[in-house]
Amino acid sequence: MTNKIKIDEDLFIGGEEFTIIAGPCAVESEKQMESIAKFLGEMGVKIIRGGAFKPRTDPNSFQGLGMAGLKILKSIKDTYGFRVVSEIMDPRDIEQAYDYIDIYQIGSRNMQNYSLLKEMGKIDKPVLLKRGMSATIEEWIKASEYIKMEGNNNIILCERGIRTFESYTRNTLDLMSVPIIKSETEYPVLVDPSHGTGRRELVLPATKAALALNADGVIIEIHPNPEEALSDGIQSLNFHEFKNLIEEIKE
Ligand code: PEP
Ligand code: MN
Repeated sequence: MTNKIKIDEDLFIGGEEFTIIAGPCAVESEKQMESIAKFLGEMGVKIIRGGAFKPRTDPNSFQGLGMAGLKILKSIKDTYGFRVVSEIMDPRDIEQAYDYIDIYQIGSRNMQNYSLLKEMGKIDKPVLLKRGMSATIEEWIKASEYIKMEGNNNIILCERGIRTFESYTRNTLDLMSVPIIKSETEYPVLVDPSHGTGRRELVLPATKAALALNADGVIIEIHPNPEEALSDGIQSLNFHEFKNLIEEIKE
């Protein structure tokens, strides 16, 4: 049985509904978030994603707006009534982010950051634990136990692809983890078709596959103008593509 993770009074992850979380890779500006929030509101999306602290491979690339980004998310949340998912990389930021974030994301690069996991175990908000890009399913499940051990069992797992020799896609989306996680753990599992493929044209087929495998939802990157995104533009859907995805999976 999958735990139902309570996000809001009548909003759950792991219930009957297939959850769709969407938003930009990174919070870039108030204007960008306003336009995304308006659009997602129209699409009926209730949970918005957006990175404020960005774990970038290149230290010279955009690192995110930090607390200023979280403040933008909070104003969007208050105005439009969304719940917010955002990544925290440093245990020292957990507390100051508390009033801004509804679901704390632990990114792929930090799946085995045990001190971060333990600190997340002490909070009373849901944690979205992404699979490490080189982690086995067993290592990923063990990582979740670090959070649980400290008292927080509000865990949502997220398959985001792993590194393999395949280079056509950014990562290899290991979708068989979905039924495995479902049988081995009590946690809901989401699929991230954006990082999982790294190519926007594969986001829809990967989402359909997630749905067919009984995943609890997806987390998708969108941008009003992906060509100008400060990070992950190549895998981000524009509004038209996202609308099409919603229509396609409704059928
Ligand atoms: C993200 O969600 O933007 C992100 C950095 O994801 P991952 O940790 O899966 O690479
Ligand atoms: Mn991203």
